[in-house]
Amino acid sequence: MALIVQKYGGTSVGSLERIKIVAQHIKETQDKGNKVVAIVSAMAGETDKLIKMAKELSKRPSEREMDLLLSSGERISSALVAIRLNEIGAKAVALTGRQCGIVTDEVHTKARIKSIDTKRIFEHLDKGEIVIVAGFQGISETTGDVTTLGRGGSDTTAVAIAAALKADVCEIYTDVDGIYTADPRIVKNARKLDKISYSEMMELASLGAKVLQIRSVEFGMKYNVPIMVLSSFTFNPGTLVTKEDEEMEKVVVSGIAHDKNQARLKINDVKDEPGVAAKIFNEIAKHNINVDMIVQNVSDDGEKTDISFTVSRDDADKAFEILQQLSKELGAGNVSINKDVAKVSVVGVGMRSHPGVAAKMFETLSKENINIRAISTSEIKISCLIDEKYTELAVRALHDAFELGEE
Ligand code: ASP
Ligand code: MG
Repeated sequence: MALIVQKYGGTSVGSLERIKIVAQHIKETQDKGNKVVAIVSAMAGETDKLIKMAKELSKRPSEREMDLLLSSGERISSALVAIRLNEIGAKAVALTGRQCGIVTDEVHTKARIKSIDTKRIFEHLDKGEIVIVAGFQGISETTGDVTTLGRGGSDTTAVAIAAALKADVCEIYTDVDGIYTADPRIVKNARKLDKISYSEMMELASLGAKVLQIRSVEFGMKYNVPIMVLSSFTFNPGTLVTKEDEEMEKVVVSGIAHDKNQARLKINDVKDEPGVAAKIFNEIAKHNINVDMIVQNVSDDGEKTDISFTVSRDDADKAFEILQQLSKELGAGNVSINKDVAKVSVVGVGMRSHPGVAAKMFETLSKENINIRAISTSEIKISCLIDEKYTELAVRALHDAFELGEE
């Protein structure tokens, strides 16, 4: 008998028909002799709808109230799934984040889980009940108010609960049947991976392959929770996200990711002296804007240089304003912004032991006449910023060059 944690995303529970299918699958999992805890997202589109309603009433709705509002989406779906399970002869209870002991910090709309008291979940499991958990929410340790874990946060609820319960596996049911070597909508012969390491998955998640919330993968890695990503439309075997093994190291490149949610900013003629970069990026950080790639040119005369960097497109206008102000303060030159850029990345743990990946990537892009506007690297990935209109071309060319496709 295994303890299985399952998570069903918004499309998986997107209609009453879907809820019937999901409830049936949960019941079958229990019928096979397993204990089951299932976390659910809000029905597809619900969270967006609630956000839209709030924004129609207020330009800046208070974050505390937003959390209370948004947490209701998951409460609805969890109750509906439990109602259906009871109808088809299983015993099920639906619990909110608070009821299943999820305590977070007090940062509304992007709270972090601090602890999970599993007592109540185990009591229900011991009675032979299935526990359905409303994902994406907890309660603040200090105020007792409802908090949410950021968009896509039900993934994190699921992996965190799996870790706390020491579950055998955390199955994430979604509308794709696993993790692919590239977006299958762009690359026709993209291949489904049987398994992938946590660190590769983290790079792919942050690079725009939006299958799992990054924080859930961090949790999985920290507590060594095997995460299986699979489809609730086919129930076929999916991709296992797990710890690295020797076999994974043999593969140089595991996948190509792309992200169009990018913008590049540039400030010209800043003084080439200590403290200037610190001042610029401090100011950006103060406004809670994450910076990704940074390029500072070597100055020819030792006096002035240019600095460019990327941010997500939603933050671009704000960053632009801040830079304009800074340029005045620093006596720097003109500030520019380009929103027509995208990032393509090559990811793989095997890169650590195989040289030449960067060279091959640059060569492949050059053969397609694609100009590289910025580069950033980590141990297991290389990213290039290019013009957005070449994204699909770049992804296909790289996928071919690294021979990732199905034979
Ligand atoms: N319903 C929330 C969202 O749409 C959380 C989730 O689906 O995981 O972001
Ligand atoms: Mg999701």
